[in-house]
Amino acid sequence: MIQNNTNKLFLKKLFFTKIKKTYHEIAKSPKASLKNIANFYNLFKKYPAYYAPKAQPNVGYFCTTVPEEIIFAMGGNPIRLDISNYSFVKSGEEITSADICPTIKSIIGAVRNNFFNGIDILIIPSCCDAKTKLSELLSPLIDKFFFMELPRHNDYQTNSTQWVSSYKKLIDFLSKHIKTKINDKKLLAAVSIYNKRTEVFRQISDFRLQNAGIITSTDYFILANAAFISTPIEWTKMALALYREAIKTKKKSIKNKKRLLLCGSPLIFPDFKILNIIEELNAEISTDTLCSSRGFLYDPIIINEPTEDGIIKAICLKHCAASMCPCFTNNFDKYIDQIIDLVTTNNLDGVIYYNLRLCQVFEIQFSYIKEILKKNNIPVLFIKSDLGAQDIEQIKTRIEAFLEILGENN
Ligand code: SF4
Ligand code: SF4
Repeated sequence: MIQNNTNKLFLKKLFFTKIKKTYHEIAKSPKASLKNIANFYNLFKKYPAYYAPKAQPNVGYFCTTVPEEIIFAMGGNPIRLDISNYSFVKSGEEITSADICPTIKSIIGAVRNNFFNGIDILIIPSCCDAKTKLSELLSPLIDKFFFMELPRHNDYQTNSTQWVSSYKKLIDFLSKHIKTKINDKKLLAAVSIYNKRTEVFRQISDFRLQNAGIITSTDYFILANAAFISTPIEWTKMALALYREAIKTKKKSIKNKKRLLLCGSPLIFPDFKILNIIEELNAEISTDTLCSSRGFLYDPIIINEPTEDGIIKAICLKHCAASMCPCFTNNFDKYIDQIIDLVTTNNLDGVIYYNLRLCQVFEIQFSYIKEILKKNNIPVLFIKSDLGAQDIEQIKTRIEAFLEILGENN
């Protein structure tokens, strides 16, 4: 972290001078016929007001490795700040470089545009090199800042002690700033609220796998991304209403759609161009492995030992040991097994592997994934893209050709 006060002040000035204001896009109107999906889209219309000060401190964080349950149990309001907004990229590039991951540029641009103004506390984990260096740039801008170090090897036996130790350091930090103490009862209550969210997300995921075209691909990613900014109680209530409406709907699921699995880099609001293209071509993302949707919401926390330490260990198991992110090592076999299992069990037609340009960790593993999927007769298309609309036509042509091949395979 930057310790020298002169450097800190310089960085602060650099961030907030000569800034041309840019504006975020508002989510488009819902395309689906289900009325309860509108609640999720409406959340993004209130954004960035979502970050405005609240009764509880707003604790902003990046990445799924940060334990929201612990923040919640300590009386904070956890808000995941990952954002993929093209309108902020130029502003991010003005003070960094064009040649870094677009998510990082978008985050920097959002900070420069005062988008996250109501955030009281910021947590950044050492999940990838880009986020690690981002912590250095952002820490001088906020007094209550925590850098969470994590080993990037996801074997539970080898690393659980270090993960628990990192989470305990986070607890100490939050105790100091939120002025509250943690205990097993608070942790258990928080875990139960988040597990309820997981249960409803699983019901919706399973429903979509059985019934194509009712909750569209964009709806699905909007509802998953809404969990970044809404409380778990609010999200679960809205998602349950959507699920109940979906199972009651008279509308028949659509049979002739190509059903796909989406893997690779996180898809984060508002950069949903891949989804718009897929829907335009009458195909569907039936499920995914992304850390912004299924990888964020699907796994429950399973507590074997209901003591404070036992619960913290169980939380580590969900956030670190189960992570399929390529920033970790030791999880490639699990990742490829998950892809094959999701495709074969659900009879999906193929895989789209999406790579955010300049994110090397996702790109480096693709050649192996491609060969293994080929060996298993699973068609896969690799799409590399930036944020922004410049390559929409090119991506559309490639997905169209891929869907034609899938059609010939049937
Ligand atoms: S891709 Fe990996 S490092 Fe990036 S937010 Fe997702 S889990 Fe975290
Ligand atoms: S997209 Fe890749 S490089 Fe960018 S923040 Fe996520 S993991 Fe890091």
